[in-house]
Amino acid sequence: SSALNVLRDPIASKGLSFTATERDRLDLNGYLPPAIETMDQQIIRLMDGYERQTSDFDRYLYLESIHDRSEVLYFRLLVENVVDMMPIVYTPTVGIACQNFSRIYRQPRGIFLSTSLRGRFYEVLRQWPQKNVEIIVVTDGSRILGLGDLGANGMGIAIGKLSLYVAAAGIHPSKVLPIMLDVGTNNEQLLMDPLYIGEKHPRLQGDAYDAIVDEFVSAVRRRWPAALVQWEDFSNDHAFPILSKYRDELLSFNDDIQGTGTVILAGLLGAMRITQSEWANQTIVFYGAGAAAVGIADMILEDMVDKGMSHSEAKDKFWLVDSKGLVTTQRSGAMQSHKLRFARDDPPLPTLLEVVKAARPTMLLGLSGKGGAFTEKIIKAMRSQCKSPIIFALSNPTSKSECTAEEAYKWGGSSTIFASGSPFAPVPIGPLGIGGTQVPGQGNNLYVFPGVGLGAISAKLRTIPDSVFALAARTLASMVTDDELAHGTVYPSLTGIRNISMHIAAAIVQQGVDTGASRVRVDTGGDDGDDKYREYVDRRMWYPDFAVSGAASRVGGG
Ligand code: NAP
Ligand code: MN
Repeated sequence: SSALNVLRDPIASKGLSFTATERDRLDLNGYLPPAIETMDQQIIRLMDGYERQTSDFDRYLYLESIHDRSEVLYFRLLVENVVDMMPIVYTPTVGIACQNFSRIYRQPRGIFLSTSLRGRFYEVLRQWPQKNVEIIVVTDGSRILGLGDLGANGMGIAIGKLSLYVAAAGIHPSKVLPIMLDVGTNNEQLLMDPLYIGEKHPRLQGDAYDAIVDEFVSAVRRRWPAALVQWEDFSNDHAFPILSKYRDELLSFNDDIQGTGTVILAGLLGAMRITQSEWANQTIVFYGAGAAAVGIADMILEDMVDKGMSHSEAKDKFWLVDSKGLVTTQRSGAMQSHKLRFARDDPPLPTLLEVVKAARPTMLLGLSGKGGAFTEKIIKAMRSQCKSPIIFALSNPTSKSECTAEEAYKWGGSSTIFASGSPFAPVPIGPLGIGGTQVPGQGNNLYVFPGVGLGAISAKLRTIPDSVFALAARTLASMVTDDELAHGTVYPSLTGIRNISMHIAAAIVQQGVDTGASRVRVDTGGDDGDDKYREYVDRRMWYPDFAVSGAASRVGGG
């Protein structure tokens, strides 16, 4: 019946909030108990249920079951509890969900473009009911978080990221689309699992793989030419080539590379606000020289050059360390091309301690995945050469963090500026905390990608140049309050995430209009117009609320 269709449509349904008039008009009488509730009453009931869940994985399942029934209620919950629920719908809990995705599979969400559908991708997209897709998150499941190849189970990541686009940037739920490029998996366990939902063959490689990605790109461009594509959790061997192949022809970016680079650059700019210093005063040691490290280094280098340093002066500020020690041209054997850009012309140094002693860093960034690598010796060596060590232990999850917040402040001194990939609680300084409290920042990609996506869509950009990310980093860094800086925090509170996304997006629209890259006009009424850009973006942002009336016919599609 049409009544059941209305009640089961997760975008149109209001559940018990349908009014008496709506119940008459939509023939809902009898289908619903007599209570007519406000949204807040429904939220109280849902929060009760949430609080009954006993593990994070159960909390995830509970929230997803709401997601499937009512997008409005699900997103209202997320928006009102972003700090508590973000670790459930996204990292770290979403990792457990992905590992078990085939086992917890209930109902369709997003598009599976699999090997067996080759040659028909456009047909699949054409028959898909969403008319106006704005943001696509696509993965091939090859490197999900730090969990490796999870094949089609990686769909969970695309779904989680898009929930954050809606909650943190106000993209309408009918305009986001997760896509899984199922090219097989090399994960033996999955291949043997009778309940695995993906294609059971080894991953396509070489030309066959490239052709699938190419077919995906042309199908998307034909079906939704204005949509933004976010490449998510592709293994390094594909992530870098895909990004550079398509970034000039498709509105797209890679959050693992560019989003991470942006959020860490913002944190370092915040740290320099605290120490009142500039790039010229810094020396940066990276522990780990993988995708994340090189993505960050690229962004920093660009910012240095933007601010007037020569390329070679800037490059000389970097010391990268991988599993074989200092990344240097004087090392024997071949070197991966992404590292070569930052290789020094110095004699090899096998350990991080030796590199710290030789380089005398002011900034030490951990992107190695090696928990506890920033030892007392290393941090003390750094402190002996610099007043306010800037230490970012960015490896996730918490157990992989190169050091804890407490260790950083204890060994680096109370003027240490610390940030991490996984959250750490505030740390009291000195006996009984008389030195105040240091609040560690979390270098969470959530600060950046929703705002960048919202900005790119609002400005109708054709591509996303590096300058967009540089701007996002500066905007984010400028939003840290003096009070936050006084506690050593280099990121603003996540409770203001929608406001942060709005500011980043407004800056992107303004830059787009100023440079002519944007295909929209914003009436600034003659003055310098910052407010007008913010209003323009703010008006586009969806806040989860039931439509006033006639919801069933007006919401969705759109
Ligand atoms: P990746 O590409 O695999 O790179 C890992 C790097 O660490 C490689 O260069 C590797 O050396 C090096 N390494 C591994 N073990 C080491 C050891 N014992 N000593 C020295 N170097 C070692 O991984 P990724 O994608 O860059 O991610 C790295 C870490 O960054 C992950 O733990 C991830 O959680 C974290 N991350 C955090 C954020 C964030 O906080 N926003 C964002 C992205 C990533 P080789 O090159 O010699 O193998
Ligand atoms: Mn990722």
